Amino acid sequence: MRTNKFGIRIAASALALAVSYGAHAVTDKDIMNDHKTPEDVVSYGMGTQGQRYSILEDLNTSNVQHLQPAWAFSFGSEKMRGQESQPLIKDGVMYVTASYSRVYAIDARTGEEIWQYDARLPDGIMPCCDVVNRGVALYDDKVIFGTLDAKLVALNKDTGKPMWIKKVADYQAGYAITAAPIVVKGKVITGVSGGEFGIVGKVEAYDANTGDVVWTRPTVEGHMGYVYKDGKKIENGISGGKAGVTWPGDMWKNGGAATWLGGTYDPDTDSLFFGTGNPAPWNSHLRPGDNLFSSSRLAIDPDDGSIKWHFQTTPHDGWDYDGVNELISFDYKEKGKTVKAAATADRNGFFYVLNRENGDFIRGFPFVDKITWAEGLDPKTGRPIYTKGGRPGDPAAMEGSKGEVVVAQPAFLGGKNWMPMAYSQDTELFYVPSNEWSMDIWNEPVSYKKGAAFLGAGFTIKPANDDYIGVLRAMDPKTGKEVWRYENTAPLWGGVMTTAGNLVFTGTPEGYLKAFDAKTGEELYRFNTGSGVVGTPVTWTMDGEQYVSVASGWGGAVPLWGGEVAKVVKDFNQGGMVWTFKLPKDRVASQ
Ligand code: CA
Ligand code: CA
Repeated sequence: MRTNKFGIRIAASALALAVSYGAHAVTDKDIMNDHKTPEDVVSYGMGTQGQRYSILEDLNTSNVQHLQPAWAFSFGSEKMRGQESQPLIKDGVMYVTASYSRVYAIDARTGEEIWQYDARLPDGIMPCCDVVNRGVALYDDKVIFGTLDAKLVALNKDTGKPMWIKKVADYQAGYAITAAPIVVKGKVITGVSGGEFGIVGKVEAYDANTGDVVWTRPTVEGHMGYVYKDGKKIENGISGGKAGVTWPGDMWKNGGAATWLGGTYDPDTDSLFFGTGNPAPWNSHLRPGDNLFSSSRLAIDPDDGSIKWHFQTTPHDGWDYDGVNELISFDYKEKGKTVKAAATADRNGFFYVLNRENGDFIRGFPFVDKITWAEGLDPKTGRPIYTKGGRPGDPAAMEGSKGEVVVAQPAFLGGKNWMPMAYSQDTELFYVPSNEWSMDIWNEPVSYKKGAAFLGAGFTIKPANDDYIGVLRAMDPKTGKEVWRYENTAPLWGGVMTTAGNLVFTGTPEGYLKAFDAKTGEELYRFNTGSGVVGTPVTWTMDGEQYVSVASGWGGAVPLWGGEVAKVVKDFNQGGMVWTFKLPKDRVASQ
């Protein structure tokens, strides 16, 4: 093992492996067909629509109890913290990220390291919610990921050597990247984090081969988007609406709406779906109005970054409910017609089914046990009907520096946070990792200062029940009915995957990878990985056997922001591993 000038450790055998594995570069077609090709996983979401559904059924409800660890790999060093990555697998090589903007290429058969890349992070990075990374994108001969200092880095897939590095935004203003980028039509599409620092959210596209910016689409109304050609802004830039319409005064200049969770892509409508976070600051009394396009889902044209439609889940958000959660495309039949729908489970506690062709609201319903801030949704528009007195009070109306405290449920960490849900084409259910908690929240005066927290709020999160916080739910998107639930002591913070083997996989902070019967919710398998699982499982097939992988390593926002909930999880140990399991060949037909 040696270290080169880029800080990459390369195994002596790396070149030999590169020759043996490097036969097939990732194409646009590979990415668009990812959900149909179980021998690889080349997109975040196990398919660009983000369903996280595998057609594999060798591993199923009758044999999952025989799933066995094949290998485990340590991310090493004293750097642990939350491991929220989703691995990608191509031609027998796994590409997985770890905390502190690290990337690994691993022999997927043996667990041996091929190369490791450690981003050289400056002092003064400002990740709000742990030093996580959620995964890479693959394109051609490149492995592409975002860093905590808001850069995109493209590495050679065989050597781990940087091919291009681009600054996406100024980390000293609070920008960071934690989401996995996606690749659509040769362009790397990324969002940015930083909504707690008064940044301006944006979605940007970069040429995957060169790293040149192709377009930029700010997500706060009033800011212009641009298309670039030969390094120049095209003059007739794309407007994102007029300043001052849904924001008072100059507040739009630091309006937040961070696109921190990345996006999905629907080839049927040729749309990127990105969510946007809270308007800044959290103190909503400073910014009367809807504050577009914060706490919304946006459909964006991948060719020029223009906004095709938007759907705002929490207009004038005063609870940090954000609106970033993944929008998953799916089709369903109703009255003999196929509906091109998309669904999202919002932090605010409501589950939304939208028409993905135009953003129209189809239906919405709570997916958590209690919502205090709204009485319901307008059945025509999906706009929330606010509860009187449900918004934290205006500090300007009080004599002290603190506004009236309200108890709000869900807490700002959400009915569901970043951890992706999954959709089964067999059961036609969504499997939603959710949490039951409330918060005391109040507002305080605040003014913008570059690189400083821009909240104007204080809060304490509390569990809603004595014996559990996390709930994995099977939700029917046609009726709003909860078909089954699994309750977990600690808050759920890991992603979900479902398979044609009638299985649902997810992890728990207690350390388990678990599998459930997709129809009944019966727990069929558990394996303790040694640290909390807040990553997202994947499955693929190799040499005729079905594999499952998941990253393990407790962390993320809960221990940092969780108030009284942090006490529930304080004894969980950190870690940093990726675990890989397989079903032995002789167990495939087992009953
Ligand atoms: Ca695939
Ligand atoms: Ca936020």
